[in-house]
Amino acid sequence: MSINIPFVNLDIQHQAIKAKLETAIHNVINQGDFVLGKALAEFEAAFASASQSAYGVGVASGTDAIALGLKACGIGSGDEVILPANTFVATLIGVLRAGATPVFADCDFHTALIDLESAAHVVTNKTKAIIPVHLYGQMVSPQKLREFADKYNLLIFEDAAQAHLAEREGYRAGSVGIAAAFSFYPSKNLGAMGDGGILLTQNPEIAQTMIRLRNYGASYKYYHTEMGTNSRLDTIQAAILREKLPYLQTWNRDRNLIANEYDRQLAPLAKYGITPFENQSGTGHVYHLYVIRIDSDCPLSRQALQDYLNTQGIQTGIHYPIPCHLQPAFTYLGYKQGDFPNSEKLASRILSLPMYPGLTKEQVSHVVKTITTAVTTNIESLTAKNE
Ligand SMILES: *Cc1c(COP(=O)(O)O)cnc(C)c1O
Repeated sequence: MSINIPFVNLDIQHQAIKAKLETAIHNVINQGDFVLGKALAEFEAAFASASQSAYGVGVASGTDAIALGLKACGIGSGDEVILPANTFVATLIGVLRAGATPVFADCDFHTALIDLESAAHVVTNKTKAIIPVHLYGQMVSPQKLREFADKYNLLIFEDAAQAHLAEREGYRAGSVGIAAAFSFYPSKNLGAMGDGGILLTQNPEIAQTMIRLRNYGASYKYYHTEMGTNSRLDTIQAAILREKLPYLQTWNRDRNLIANEYDRQLAPLAKYGITPFENQSGTGHVYHLYVIRIDSDCPLSRQALQDYLNTQGIQTGIHYPIPCHLQPAFTYLGYKQGDFPNSEKLASRILSLPMYPGLTKEQVSHVVKTITTAVTTNIESLTAKNE
């Protein structure tokens, strides 16, 4: 079966600004400053400013932005860091690579964002920081986060890899905590043509430490004051990102409108157990992903629905099918099934629908119509129910 509606389509945004992207790439080739070049410094400043932060330090990936960023904030061995169980595994890998001890909290069932009550239960006298993951493009409430961090005297380190320019309560993603990590993986809201990431911070010393850490720990050339690594955002990638940045708000707005359309059209399916996640931040939600829940009162299993959509040429995804605490690589952390009920329940019920700037109203209608057909028609025979 051919794909009628892909899960993401990057070609639409690239075609629209292709000449600009090509010029930007050619300029770097002519300039020859491939590592730590001019376009990198320009992009770092522009992205920090757009995110209401003071400093930006480009690195090779979002994972490195977390791992090196935590280190730059002075978080490491002996420090406990609270993170949600239902995040992309890179959040966890970043904490572990910084040498800190990850401590999971559960999420809210209706937003999939970290549940601060659950987080409060795992605070100890070793807890140094909390990593709110602005999952799917919606920020964790900055006010509640700040109250929480003040109460327990913790640092806030944002994982904003899915939330470029997201807003809530007057804050932009990346401006709430001591520092924030972003990813420029191609399919993120702001994507490079390869891997990339950035750390944002308001603190000049953290920025300076980060500049050393990404460059072999060098204070200046061939003088190494600490253990660093090689993790730079390539100048070519920065040049591409700088060209894309002025369009980001428009693209995010488009995602938000598409999500509103999905919300509106899916509303009648509530009685079939199909429920979108709550948007608590209006136009500030940048919908990196549009995710629905297939609840236990749905006549269809998630697998059956996903398979059916696939046969109809509609690609979907699951973000994420296994919570971090149950990943085989990390059983040594000592967590088990049942520790985080909401995260576990969601992992088996969520489905991400096609979402990208340029997805049309007609395509949204087609997706919703196809879901409606699936849940209202007897296609039970496709698969057994999962719960
Ligand atoms: C993408 C992502 C990362 C990791 O970014 P990479 O650039 O792929 O290393 C971290 N956290 C979250 C929530 C992400 O979605």
